[in-house]
Parts: sequence; C-alpha cells; structure tokens
Amino acid sequence: MAKRDYYEVLGVPRNASEAEIKKAFRQLARKYHPDANPGDPSAEEKFKEINEAYEVLRDPEKRARYDQLGHAGVSGTAGGPGVDFTDFPFSGFGDIFSEFFNMGTSGGRRTVRRPTRGESLEYILKITLAEAASGTTRLINVSRIEECAVCGGTGSRPGTHKKTCPICHGTGEIRTSRGGAFAMFVSVQPCHHCGGTGEVNEFPCTECAGEGRVRRTRKVSVEVPPGVDTGLKLRLRGEGSAGVYGGPPGDLFVHIEVEPHPQFERQGTELYTDVSISYVQAVLGTEVSVPTLEGQENVTIPEGTQPGSEIRLKGKGMPFLKRNARGDLHVRVRVQIPTKLSKRERDLLTQVAHERKEMVLNKKKFIDKMKDVLSG
Ligand SMILES: [Zn+2]
Ligand SMILES: [Zn+2]
Repeated sequence: MAKRDYYEVLGVPRNASEAEIKKAFRQLARKYHPDANPGDPSAEEKFKEINEAYEVLRDPEKRARYDQLGHAGVSGTAGGPGVDFTDFPFSGFGDIFSEFFNMGTSGGRRTVRRPTRGESLEYILKITLAEAASGTTRLINVSRIEECAVCGGTGSRPGTHKKTCPICHGTGEIRTSRGGAFAMFVSVQPCHHCGGTGEVNEFPCTECAGEGRVRRTRKVSVEVPPGVDTGLKLRLRGEGSAGVYGGPPGDLFVHIEVEPHPQFERQGTELYTDVSISYVQAVLGTEVSVPTLEGQENVTIPEGTQPGSEIRLKGKGMPFLKRNARGDLHVRVRVQIPTKLSKRERDLLTQVAHERKEMVLNKKKFIDKMKDVLSG
C-alpha cells in the first residue's frame, strides 16, 4: 500500500512550524490512541500512520530528508541513513509518549541544558557531466533550523525572561515521601508544571512558539570543483542546523550525482564514445566527426582499421580532482556491414572477391536460375 504524505497524515501545511506539527500530532494521537478505541483495527492503523509521520516530521534532519526525497529518504531500505519502520508499531514510542502523556517515564527526566551541536543535513545535488568536467557553483535551497532572530534563541518574548518554576523551584523534579518511623518511600517525578525544565516561559516568543529555533529555507552556495563524480560528498562546515544552548551548528553534506550523458560513458577520468563507419571506410580509411566535451572534433581513422579498435584522444577525458590534468577520450570504432546492396555494388564486390581469389556466394546466379525456373 502506498504511503500517504506525512504532512497530509498530520493535516499540516508543508511549511508548518515544529509547534504546529506537535500540536496536530497531539490532537490526532489522543483521538486514535488504541486505549481510546479498544478493538478498532482502523484506529490502530491510523494511530501507527500518525506516529510514523510524526517520528519523521519532528526530527529536523529526517524532515529535511523527507522534504527532499519523500518516503525513500527516510526508509531504511532506500540506502543511506534513514529510519527503519519495519518493527513498528510498538517499539520506539516511549519517547514520544512520555513527552506528551508521561507514559513510561523512568524517574526524573530533567532536561540537561548542555550545549548541543546542531543537526547535520544531507543534500543530493544532480549535475551534468559537463558541469562535473568544468566545475560549477550552484545555489541550493536548504531547509534547516536556525536560531530565532526575534528572541535570539531564548524562546521568550523580547524584554521578558523565563521564571524559575514555582512548583519545583527550578529542580525540574517533584519528590514525594511517604511512610512512617521505620520506612520512608521517596518517589521522584518530573515536574508537570515546567515539563522537567525547571523554568516556565510565561511569555513565549510568538515567532518560534517558545522553541527558540525556527525552520528556514536558505539559499546556500555550493562550490563544485572540476572532476567530481557520483558518490563524492562535499562538506559545508556550519551550514547545517543551528546548535542549541550555544552549541555549534551542524554541517551540510552535499552528495554529488552526475547525470548520465547520451554520448559519453565515464570511468573515473576516462571517457568512452562510439563512432560508426562503413566497412569500406574501415578498409580505405576516413575522417569522422567525434563528440568531445568541447564540441565536435574531426578525427582521422587510418586505412585498415579493425572493428572494435579504439582511437585515443589524449587529454580529452575528465579532469583529475584537485590536479591540473585530464584523462583521455576513447573513441571506439564500430564497423557497419550493409545488409542490402544495389546490383552495381554487388557486381563491384564480386569483382573484388575474384581479385582476392575469395569464394563468395553467387546470389545473382541463384536469382537468375529461379527466374528461369518460374518463366520456363
Ligand atoms: Zn523566538
Ligand atoms: Zn517545575
């Protein structure tokens, strides 16, 4: 069954903010949660679908990959990093649910405000063979998380500050003790009031909904050096998503994919192309127009050229990476044998065969004989 678009599943627009996605997920997950719909398999299916969509769209890196490549970009089977959903439904939910419903939390989960590096992003850049040969500069659209410019990443409206949580007094935990003189039971729970952060954001920034970070699409210039090939990865330091709590930004990895060319096959720095000549041209020699990266070029084919032989044009191949040198262009000669001959061609070739004392089938005589038989 074809997977539905994740944005469609959550009912949010493609440019939805993280806060909007979270909100949509929360509402749908409540509605379709199996506990709320006992014995309803369609609700369970729906629930799985919602979770799968949210699992991808909540993660900036996965979301960027999904935006660019669709389901293939985030399914483990498509190669490359991705999420494997094969063991859905009931594994890996813990995190999402504890986030919203406080299900399955393990003790105090106070958020540690450590500087964290931003997510690194992946981008697939398709270029032509000509661009790979000459090098190129391309502007690409990158969807990434940036620090909110309005609040400077604090998540609070300018001029306001987060307050220490009055319930847990900034610890992020609620301790309750029960018991008597001989035994004391202490249980530690994350503070529900502040979500375990120890702070309350009374005036969340409207731009980023209190997150401190926003998703932006930026044009990033990518310098592609001459000689790149499919499989090469360019690293643009610091062009990934912004870090949190003062952490450095992630990197942007640009995966190069060189599109196939109609006339050239490439093997590293070597290029291959085919030219067709007739058997007569192979015997007597000729001049043919050959495609090169720089345009058509006339090439002499010497007399007596054998089928499948190769003429090498030195330095007309692909450039070496970071080296001022180029490979060769290999011109493979295909010799065409005609399947239909005019009467005059047949006569001339029969004479050639006689000259060379070679036995050939005499089709003309056979046809004449047939005519005699039919008329006689
Ligand atoms: Zn903000
Ligand atoms: Zn609190």
